[in-house]
Order: sequence, then structure tokens, then C-alpha cells
Amino acid sequence: MNRQQLLGSAATWFDQGGLLSAMRHRVACPTASDNRPPPEALEAYLTQQMMPLLQPMGFECAVVANPVPGNGPMLIARRIEDPALPTVLSYGHGDTVSGQDASWRQGLSPWTLTVEGDRWYGRGTADNKGQHSINLAALGQVLEARQGRLGYNVTLLLEMGEETGSPGLREICLQQRDVLRADVFIASDGPRVHAAKPTVFLGSRGIINFALRLKSRERAYHSGNWGGVLTNPGTVMAHAVASLTDAHGRILVEGLRPEPPSAEIRAALRGVAIGGDVDDPALNEGWGEPGLSAAERLMAWNTLEVLALGCGAPERPINAIPSAAVAHCQLRFVPGTPWQDLQAIVQAHLNDRGFSDIAVEVIAATPATRLGMDSPWIDWLCQSIERSVNKPVTLLPNLAGSLPNDAFAEILGLPTLWVPHSYPACAQHAPNEHMLASVAREGLLLMSGLFWDLGEADSAPWRTC
Ligand SMILES: [Zn+2]
Repeated sequence: MNRQQLLGSAATWFDQGGLLSAMRHRVACPTASDNRPPPEALEAYLTQQMMPLLQPMGFECAVVANPVPGNGPMLIARRIEDPALPTVLSYGHGDTVSGQDASWRQGLSPWTLTVEGDRWYGRGTADNKGQHSINLAALGQVLEARQGRLGYNVTLLLEMGEETGSPGLREICLQQRDVLRADVFIASDGPRVHAAKPTVFLGSRGIINFALRLKSRERAYHSGNWGGVLTNPGTVMAHAVASLTDAHGRILVEGLRPEPPSAEIRAALRGVAIGGDVDDPALNEGWGEPGLSAAERLMAWNTLEVLALGCGAPERPINAIPSAAVAHCQLRFVPGTPWQDLQAIVQAHLNDRGFSDIAVEVIAATPATRLGMDSPWIDWLCQSIERSVNKPVTLLPNLAGSLPNDAFAEILGLPTLWVPHSYPACAQHAPNEHMLASVAREGLLLMSGLFWDLGEADSAPWRTC
């Protein structure tokens, strides 16, 4: 079989319902990882959905207990054709966020795949069961086309805890460094920039959640008897939060503002349009850092959000000065931001403005990582995709959201390339999550072409980086 015939047979397999039938079984596994204790479905997804698929393809599979107790296991599957050949590492996560069963539209349910036109509804279709299912199907197509030979080795790492912050993933990458040794990392998660635009991104922004807490006294006091002589923590907190950004969301904390995007990052993002799909929200003009395009503000800049803000009881206010106030905040950040120092930076900023009674507490963080734009893998990958689907690829330096990419880029030291098969309005993490059949089909074709090209002699830049 040649490349063209491979793409033809992959398309036929899809059109005959191959992926749809696999997805029906996988969506039916209730693999929400935010339930405590973790459901048995987490391990069952690996042993009953993944291993019976991978073993006949020649993968040796090992289910590895999570080194962080109370969390789902991982699967390390290796297909070694020849130890002398180069190796691609891929990744996916079989866990999902909770079903939120009661909130889905009438006729839809998170754990039953429902087809409506181009949409396949079900929890995990977009994030991430659909995406790794596409990649494994593509690999299967190439194996068939090449009579059981790829021309390279494949290692697959599947985790069951991504939605709870990937507990144990970094430990496994450290402990199993030799087993996971590879030459390049290619995986799929997150959305394309637009449903119709094949997209590649090279890493992700980081994320750090932090709380500002102000406790003024042990209890509330009557606002008539004490108002005007006792500080109001709600008022103080509102001013403290207002000192972090201006009224248009521009970050005012000097230490949290990144370097201006480099010329090559700006060039990569030129012409990248944000939003515009049917279910996308309208963008707000004049919000965020001035002088940057929407794509630059999302992918090449930091954003500081207020996630929740509280004092008193908003649902039932009483005539009293509340005792305490809290603001839950979040910074999404690009590489180079000194996020490890965020607590000290924000505390100093507040102290300087007279808010030293407010304590800053860091809740959770994931670093930002991205592959350098000069990697020879980038052109190679984009050209392979363009050849398969006859469309230009949108290349993003990084995803605006966050992924545990540091485990692969930093701990394993790999060039990281992500090829997403979802789209921005997929309702990931919300009711009515879905994947688009048209994007899945295109994803299957471009991944088949990619896994084919990886095995062509002297095609991929395995040893040049
Ligand atoms: Zn997710």
C-alpha cells in the first residue's frame, strides 16, 4: 500500500463507523477522576478498552500504580520494533471531569454517545478519549498498510488523572525515564484554533491559582453600631483586587508582566483569528493588554483572572460588616514568567499599597513550556499534515490553556508537538461535550499520514535535534 491508499482505507474505516463504534464503548466508561474514592472505571478503561486494542498491535502493556496514593493508575505501552530504531512517545488521558448528568440538554447523557448531525455528544469525546482514539486508530491503519512494520518504536503513556492535575505523572516520568526514553513527543489534546483549521501547538501556557485572604476579626458587627469605625474587609479586598489589574484587565503587578512577544512568536500568530464559531462568545474590544492582537493576548501574554470573590453571604445579605473576605485568583502565563516567586511578588505588591493584612496563598501551579520555534520537527510536521489534508496548518507557539507538557519537555527532555482534534466550542468540562465527526475524520487522515511519514527513510528529523 502507498500513502494515498493508506489515507483511502483510513477514510473507509471511518465512514463505515469504525471510530464511532470504538467511541460508544469508551464513552460508556464513567471515568470521572474527580470522584473520591476514584472509581474502578479508571483502571477498567486501561485494561478493558486500551489493552485489548494495543496488545494485538504488538504493544507490551504495563498498568502502573499511581505513586500518589488515592489516584488512578497509568498505562505504559511499548511497541519496540528494534531498539536501534528511533522512538516516538505519545500520551493521552482516559479520565474525564464529572458527568454533571443533570445539566445536559434533554435527550443527551454524559455516558452514552449520541450522534446529532456532525456532533458526537458524550463526556470525554473531546477531552480526551476521542483524541487518543483517533491517534491509536491511525497507528493501526499504518501498521496494516505496512504489514505490521512501522519503521520506528512507539511508547504510549496514558494517565487517568489529568483532570485532577495529573497527580503522579511527573513522578512516573522521573522513575521510568529509561522506559519512556524517546526522540520526539507527539500527542493530541486541547482544541484546534478553529474547527476547520488543522492546528499544531508546541507547548502550553502555565497556570497558577492563588487566594487573597483577609480576616479582619472573629465575627461580623452591626453596620449601624460600628460602621465607619471598623474596616470593612469587603471594601479593602475590592481595592486590593483592583490594584492587580486596571479596569480593562491589564496586569498592573510589574513582576507578573511577561517580556513582549518576540518577533518570531508575533510572526507565528499573525493572522490567527480567535472565536467566530457559532457557539463562541463575542470578544470584548478593549479588554486585556493594549497593543496586542487577540491571539497574542491569549497565547503570548499573561492573564490574571478573578475566579471567585467573597464576603458576607451574597444570597442573603445582612446589615453587618463582614468579618473576612477572600478572592480566588489565577494567572495564566507564558514561559519566562517567574511563577515560582508569585507569592512573594503579589505579597510585596499588596504591602506597598497598604494591603499588608491580606495574605497571599498559592493553591496549585503547572509550569509553562514550549518547544523553540527553530526545531526542525515543526516544518516537517506541518508539511506532513498539509500533504494529507491539502489545507494550511495553523501553528501556535503554545496552547492558551494548560497541559502537563513540562513532564515531557523538561523531565524527559523531548521536543513536544501537539496536534489537537477538538475545537473551541466543544463544551469541554461542561454539559453537552461533543466532538465533530468532520474534524475526527480529518484528524484520522492527518495522523495516518503523519505516522506513515515517520517511518519513511530519511524523512523525519529524528537525529538532528
Ligand atoms: Zn480537560
